[in-house]
Amino acid sequence: MSLRRILRIDNPEDKKILKTNCRPIKLPNRELKQLIADMFETMHDATGVGLAAPQVGLPIRLTVIWIPPVYEKQEDGTEVETAPAEEYVLINPKIVKMSNEEIIRQEGCLSLPGWYGDVPRATWVTVEYQDLNGKMRRIRKADGLLGWAIQHEVDHLNGILFTERIRDLSTLRDLTKEQDAETSAADQVARTTEQSPATDTPKV
Ligand code: ZN
Repeated sequence: MSLRRILRIDNPEDKKILKTNCRPIKLPNRELKQLIADMFETMHDATGVGLAAPQVGLPIRLTVIWIPPVYEKQEDGTEVETAPAEEYVLINPKIVKMSNEEIIRQEGCLSLPGWYGDVPRATWVTVEYQDLNGKMRRIRKADGLLGWAIQHEVDHLNGILFTERIRDLSTLRDLTKEQDAETSAADQVARTTEQSPATDTPKV
């Protein structure tokens, strides 16, 4: 496996690729396995929970998502894993249904580290996609972190950036800079993630 460079929204050459409407992938494709492994490695290295192929310079319809495990604190103070981490590889994903209801949450992107803004999203989506073998699959009514990540990543494949979804641009801020004065370097690392919000909101 190897790390790939993550393209940036604030780099004009990178932005051209990030603004591309990505092309569908023909399956099976022998090279995808390596690319997917690299994308997961690159995403984890940047402590993100989702990464789309155009973010590593490839305008194709592929995204990976990682939902962290859930821990619950026990009476004795220890933490027990109540839900394992989940990994998703979505090839040629299409959102086929979404809720009318919206939720606004603070959102960030690995292609614009440190910046966060309030983005409205559907509370749930149903997505159809293909697995590596070309088999059609479906996730029904994905909500919470998964539903939100699917919408963010499918947007990437359509060349849409989270900054374009923000209605109130005054909410778009570089939180790393703002909090520089009071926080340690370690905290900063935790904050410069695609989808981890800046403050006490659960890491999404
Ligand atoms: Zn992103």
